[in-house]
Amino acid sequence: MIRYISTRGASPPLGFFDVVLTGLAPDGGLYVPETLPRFSASEIAEFGTLDYVTLAQRILAPFVGGELSEAQLRQMLEETYASFRHTAIAPLVQVGHHQFILELFHGATLAFKDFALQFLGRLLDHILRQRGERATVIGATSGDTGSAAIAACAGRDALRLFILHPHGRVSEVQRRQMTTVADANVHNLAVQGTFDDCQDIVKTLFGDAAFRESERLVAVNSINWARICAQVVYYFYAACALGAPHRRVSFSVPTGNFGDIYAGYIAKRLGLPVERLVIATNRNDILTRCLNTGAYAMESVSPSLSPSMDIQISSNFERLLFDLHGRNGKGLAAAMQRFRAEKRLALEPDALQTLRQEFSAQAVDDAQTLSTIAEVYAQTGYLADPHTAVGLAAAFAHAEPGIPMITLATAHPAKFPEAVERATGVRPALPPHMRDLFEKKERYEVVENNAEIIKAYIAQT
Ligand SMILES: *Cc1c(COP(=O)(O)O)cnc(C)c1O
Repeated sequence: MIRYISTRGASPPLGFFDVVLTGLAPDGGLYVPETLPRFSASEIAEFGTLDYVTLAQRILAPFVGGELSEAQLRQMLEETYASFRHTAIAPLVQVGHHQFILELFHGATLAFKDFALQFLGRLLDHILRQRGERATVIGATSGDTGSAAIAACAGRDALRLFILHPHGRVSEVQRRQMTTVADANVHNLAVQGTFDDCQDIVKTLFGDAAFRESERLVAVNSINWARICAQVVYYFYAACALGAPHRRVSFSVPTGNFGDIYAGYIAKRLGLPVERLVIATNRNDILTRCLNTGAYAMESVSPSLSPSMDIQISSNFERLLFDLHGRNGKGLAAAMQRFRAEKRLALEPDALQTLRQEFSAQAVDDAQTLSTIAEVYAQTGYLADPHTAVGLAAAFAHAEPGIPMITLATAHPAKFPEAVERATGVRPALPPHMRDLFEKKERYEVVENNAEIIKAYIAQT
């Protein structure tokens, strides 16, 4: 059975359910599995014959560690992926020689976050009901996490949700997907600040032990291990469809908080033959700079056409740093403390070398994002959303002969119609089930960028 340990080495190990409920470890670290299972080449060859839900069950079972029965896990996964509107769940589309797009936007809110959050919502509900408890979900969103979390948790009795988004910095479709949900357990807070401010407030609230316990706070952002492991599945699904384990593939991943691409790294550690993981960032390029220079150095955030990636501190990067530091939690705790104080962390030469062996990185600015959308549309008729286009631009820059490159399409183009229209002249339509989004009534509070005020608001609600 897998136990989970903190990246900062000073919290006791936990089982799966406790990790799902706990989010950030008490020592400020993130939970990671103490050991990872490894799937053999013959198991992976068999994975290629499985449908999405069955594959998810095979991959998730060791992480769940018997805390759900086989039948319970199966049912939860069936319900999760029944909400998707494509029979392949995660279909592949070819857009060039050895260039593929993995469409991850067929879930409830049209972004890849539904893959993990629809599962996490059901999982939280199950755990809390089993324990006879209720909890408060608090999350920061740059747009897509919030709507996916709300779609996953709205109306569930065991949960109430407070979702913080940066006021005026999410797209209108994103905002409306959050603010038009009428369930009484959903509360939207528009914070007068950036996404990083929202994330900092959430961290502050979780850091207040008394508040955390009195409100029974639960995190649904990508630091929650359940999200990471649910995302591992589609890396296997896509790679197996293109011939894994007999053929290696590479992935290009539009990256913000480093959750999605970290799941690809875990897939590789579980035995999937992955040649290269390409970190695709927009102009907010801390990760690309880190790979190029060896310094993980924070700068201010500037808004881009791919707002879900307008992030400077990539929370999940700490999980990778843990491995790069030889899984030395005490050492990493000291390094993260320095980073917090100095906004800068220099990687040791061998850590940087390992990072470069596993990953490539590419920063793509808005002009390139638009030209990539235009180029792919002109050549293939495919409409890519701006996040996906960042991934595609990086995929084209890092193509290697003979290795299929799979770009993760993280959002549906209709979620970001302005950019797509600017690039192609075509305004992508929302899918039929969402056509009434602009007629529904919105509900949200604009709040100051201040953790104490938000704490008081939650306590009173
Ligand atoms: C969240 C998001 C990303 C970034 O994913 P991370 O796991 O934070 O790296 C990229 N694209 C879209 C559309 C997203 O919603």
